[in-house]
Amino acid sequence: MRILIVEDDAGIVSFLAKGLKSEGYATAVARDGDRAIRLLRASDESFDLVLLDLGLPGTSGEEVLAVLRQRDASLPVIVLTSRTEIASKVRGLELGANDYVTKPFSFAELLARIRAALRSSSQSASTELVVGDLRLDLLTKIAWRAGRRIDLAPREWALLELFMRHPTHLLSRARILNEVWEYGFDPGNNVVDVYVSYLRKKLNIAGLDPLIQTVRGAGYRLIAP
Ligand code: CA
Repeated sequence: MRILIVEDDAGIVSFLAKGLKSEGYATAVARDGDRAIRLLRASDESFDLVLLDLGLPGTSGEEVLAVLRQRDASLPVIVLTSRTEIASKVRGLELGANDYVTKPFSFAELLARIRAALRSSSQSASTELVVGDLRLDLLTKIAWRAGRRIDLAPREWALLELFMRHPTHLLSRARILNEVWEYGFDPGNNVVDVYVSYLRKKLNIAGLDPLIQTVRGAGYRLIAP
């Protein structure tokens, strides 16, 4: 489990980083909003939860949260607020924070909130995947984009699930073949390209941006709008 700490107060950062490390969590730290957005956008970074101070220098915590929610509807976010920031706390919840703690807080209290947020996120993660305006129900195997229902054939939802579990990552044809088709399936034909094109057609809704990008000579990636 990896937690992103977004906080400008060095004392709080060190208190959180030490405490979380002793509980077995890996951490990364962003001391301002711009750095937080860079980390959240980086395709080689991944986080299971974000602790977000709202009172940041420069780009505010609210802006970080808005950017984060555009990319990832399901990443749990716990907002850290001071008693004087009640209005921004409310705004944080409106923008999609899962929970908040008011400073000063005890580490035990925060830890309980973190565990609860991770628990509910793993429960919802087991039944649906969400990337941008795209949602895949893992039980019914029906996808929804911007509120429109998309019915998928079995290989198509397996392919979409693979993309949605690795948004923005470059997936090679070989990897897609291995994960969506049986091991040892003849890679000599263009089955991956054919199914990506089926999936693209189904996900393509007039007025909305294409979601699957071709990376020439390398494979495909799902764009997280
Ligand atoms: Ca602050």
